[in-house]
Amino acid sequence: MLQTNFGKLSTRLDKPIKIDMAQLETEQGENLSLDDKLFALISPFHFTSTDPLRELMRNTGMVISGSTALALTTQNNDFFPNDIDLYVLPPGFPAVLQYVEDHGYKIEPSSRATANYYHQNIIIVKLTHPVSHKTVNVMSNLDSHVVKCITRFHSTVVMNYVSWFGLVVLYPEWTLQKRGLLLANTSTSNDIITKYVNRGYSLHRNIFDIGAPNQHRCGIDPYCPSTTRSLHDSHCFIELFEPAQDNFTTIQRDMTWTLPVPCSFDAIAPTARN
Ligand SMILES: [Zn+2]
Repeated sequence: MLQTNFGKLSTRLDKPIKIDMAQLETEQGENLSLDDKLFALISPFHFTSTDPLRELMRNTGMVISGSTALALTTQNNDFFPNDIDLYVLPPGFPAVLQYVEDHGYKIEPSSRATANYYHQNIIIVKLTHPVSHKTVNVMSNLDSHVVKCITRFHSTVVMNYVSWFGLVVLYPEWTLQKRGLLLANTSTSNDIITKYVNRGYSLHRNIFDIGAPNQHRCGIDPYCPSTTRSLHDSHCFIELFEPAQDNFTTIQRDMTWTLPVPCSFDAIAPTARN
């Protein structure tokens, strides 16, 4: 089934990519909208409606990333996130923090150790619900585009975000097939691999292990790490909450990125796991 999906994605897409997730879900008898799936993921976190959350995203530019966005790329929310990660540029930070606090969360006095996850300085405020102990992380950095920090994550599998208009997957041909390129060279790499293996994903240290052809146009093909990508380059997967009058290139400001590894990235030997 995903192979069919892959074939659709492989075609050049000059307009917002709207793969019919409902069609993908038909075989399992499910027909959940993106909004329904988002609600199922956020409701255990005391967020009782998606409407104010989507309104907040529209007003502040906040996006949801991490496991929540990844779960939305699966057919039926194949797993549930342990926490929710919200990203917003500094001007929207107070409003997002207030929104989370309004749902009963309290700011944790000490922030979690995330140095290995991020290459850049990032402000992280961790909020915990005193009754359920659910966690929401509100994060901000000084980039000019909120999506920039997402392109610095440890793996392509988590380079996805939910914005006010819908879901965006930066590496869909890999992510929708539950594969990804591991970019982190840290002591936590094996922990990351284990976490995603448990969720049905395989993470690889070079693109050839993922299934890239031996020969590709280096720096041109969208799945070569040396290629400078752009949100508007038509290689992102986009699923909208509502049928939009506007083109994706109109509703999403563009941004470019290049993965922080060379194409022949295979220098990191897997370390022994005891
Ligand atoms: Zn290449």
